[in-house]
Amino acid sequence: MIRHPAERRAIVIGAGLAGSAVAHSLAIRGWSVTVFDQGQGPGAGASGLPAGLAAPHVSPDDHLLSRITRAGVQATLQRARDLLPIGTDWAPTGVLEHNLGGKRRLPAEGGATDNALSSASSSASSSVSSSVPATPAQMATAGLDPKAPGIWHAQAGWIRPRQLVAAQLQTPGVQVHWGQPVQSVVQHGAQWAVQAVDGQRLGQAPLLVVASAFDSLALLQHLPGFAVPFNPLRGQISFGRLSDLTEAQRLLLPPFPVNGHGSFISGVPTPEGQAGWFIGSTFERNCTQAPILAQDHAANRQRLQTLLPTLGQAMDQAFEADRVQGWAGLRCTLPNRLPAVGPIDRHRLPGLWLSAGMGARGISLSVLCGELTAAWLENEPLPLPEDCVRHLAAERYAAR
Ligand SMILES: Cc1cc2nc3c(=O)[nH]c(=O)nc-3n(C[C@H](O)[C@H](O)[C@H](O)COP(=O)(O)OP(=O)(O)OC[C@H]3O[C@@H](n4cnc5c(N)ncnc54)[C@H](O)[C@@H]3O)c2cc1C
Repeated sequence: MIRHPAERRAIVIGAGLAGSAVAHSLAIRGWSVTVFDQGQGPGAGASGLPAGLAAPHVSPDDHLLSRITRAGVQATLQRARDLLPIGTDWAPTGVLEHNLGGKRRLPAEGGATDNALSSASSSASSSVSSSVPATPAQMATAGLDPKAPGIWHAQAGWIRPRQLVAAQLQTPGVQVHWGQPVQSVVQHGAQWAVQAVDGQRLGQAPLLVVASAFDSLALLQHLPGFAVPFNPLRGQISFGRLSDLTEAQRLLLPPFPVNGHGSFISGVPTPEGQAGWFIGSTFERNCTQAPILAQDHAANRQRLQTLLPTLGQAMDQAFEADRVQGWAGLRCTLPNRLPAVGPIDRHRLPGLWLSAGMGARGISLSVLCGELTAAWLENEPLPLPEDCVRHLAAERYAAR
């Protein structure tokens, strides 16, 4: 049983996808939310990714990760529908999964439905999502062998995360302080205070949600019993302008994103606002910095050749140093590839909550985590069944 603060006032540390989603979900329910971020504007962390995918995981037994990502993608697409202009900031294009090696398998009937979620009464579970075998025509449209195995995720699309962050933070009731690093969090009776590096108190509230990704560890690791095993996982995407491609290369571009061995997206604005192409991402463990590396462009070039061989061959020159651009960031991961959400330890640390550890799926999971947070606090029906919630709960790491 979660004890709810009498006062509907919260502080959120971190204004990425996770923090902005929590802030939005609370503010639309009447909470007053103050957000602190060390960056100068939206997208200082991993959520500065220029373009990424909201796409579900699938598995033959429709296991937890598949069910949770499916609900998460639905929640994100609905949020995008509510807040973002279609075509420039997101698009529900559907996503083709090139099922390399035929390893990925759909549940028995070939389509994943939301039966597993039907007991949960929320918007995240009300509509039916579908992932089905790709048709030969879809495979051919992407320039792939029509007979090769593929999966078509109809409920999926691309999003520009920074735009979603900015839109969520514009919710009435949310106040954001940019350029404000939080150095420490301190419990004062029934309140949590956040302090700057010089010890100055920046604010206090009965609810503190830490959403500062891997940096959450530095803020919280001194607390009694804190044992959430966050890890950093660096990644880089390579991208370029469509205008730098030849007409022949542009004709090969698939009209929808393709994933399966990394992901390829085209027709999405680059950070400078020109139509672009994007391929990613690399994965590098035990790395706490995110410089842009030439070797990662080479890895992404290779990735594209595996994912979409014809296009990859044709676009080889697009990876030359004078044309290719890069963006790199740090994902914050947890061992079961699911985030840590909610109270850290409701008995020892009442009022201290997390929404972090989004891993490689922050676009697909952060909105759902914000809604779960708000549903807990407002005593609403949860947006997921109990077994899924248990695997997301930050308290799964609390010392027994
Ligand atoms: C290369 C790459 C490709 C990716 N592709 C996809 C994809 O296609 N689909 C997908 O779903 N996900 C993708 N991801 C993952 C996704 O980007 C992340 O999961 C998501 O952005 C994490 O959001 P977050 O809010 O938890 O963290 P962040 O965006 O990192 O936000 C944390 C915020 O906390 C702030 N902060 C940190 N410490 C402090 C402090 N002490 N005080 C104040 N503020 C602080 C930071 O400035 C930052 O703004 C990708 C990630 C990478 C790196």
